[in-house]
Amino acid sequence: MSIETNLLEIKKEIEQVEVTLVAVSKTKSTAEIQEAYNAGQRVFGENQVQELVDKQAALPQDIAWHIIGHLQTNKVKYIAPFISLIQSVDSIKLLKEIDKNASKHHRTIDCLLQIAIAEEDTKFGLSHEEAIELLRSETYLQLENVRIVGLMGIATNTANERIVKEEFYELKTFFDGIKASFFQDKDSFRILSMGMSSDYQWAIAQGSNMIRLGSSIFGSRATKA
Ligand SMILES: *Cc1c(COP(=O)(O)O)cnc(C)c1O
Repeated sequence: MSIETNLLEIKKEIEQVEVTLVAVSKTKSTAEIQEAYNAGQRVFGENQVQELVDKQAALPQDIAWHIIGHLQTNKVKYIAPFISLIQSVDSIKLLKEIDKNASKHHRTIDCLLQIAIAEEDTKFGLSHEEAIELLRSETYLQLENVRIVGLMGIATNTANERIVKEEFYELKTFFDGIKASFFQDKDSFRILSMGMSSDYQWAIAQGSNMIRLGSSIFGSRATKA
């Protein structure tokens, strides 16, 4: 199956729902990304800064790039000029650094808070309490060049539908609560990014409006050592 065929099939499948499709192109070549672009895809996600910067320079300038992996504060400066959405904000320190660099480039950078929802993966992502603490903090309230537009989560990597659906349900419920508590009059808080190739149908059923698909578009990735 070609990248174009895969994309068209997925798009057809989700055309009835309001879901943004992020094509996760990590480890894939610029030629493969160009193929997806030629098939109409404009939103791409990467998880390595260097790879993202190289691809951004080489590919069409109207691509909206998202960073979806853990972002180190010392690398924010490389993506600040062009990044469209940072999906993986997991600390106030990182948010401050994004704000500082956004300001240098006279931009406002849209961000999602990454919430830890999976059983095993507690390495990255904020707990509910930490997210609330961040949103209440004086430091956050003073930032002028970042805008939190939603939440992102990664479910447990399991074929157990009940576990994955419960995690997505929990994130949707938290999203609704956060919107009501902190962003009542702000239409900008609107993105709930959940769902990957293996679980996006379950995520959409639980209220996701942004899915991040890699292997179902580009084929499987060579596993990195
Ligand atoms: C790699 C990755 C994806 C895409 O995974 P697939 O299983 O290939 O669809 C989605 N989200 C994040 C955060 C990722 O790192």
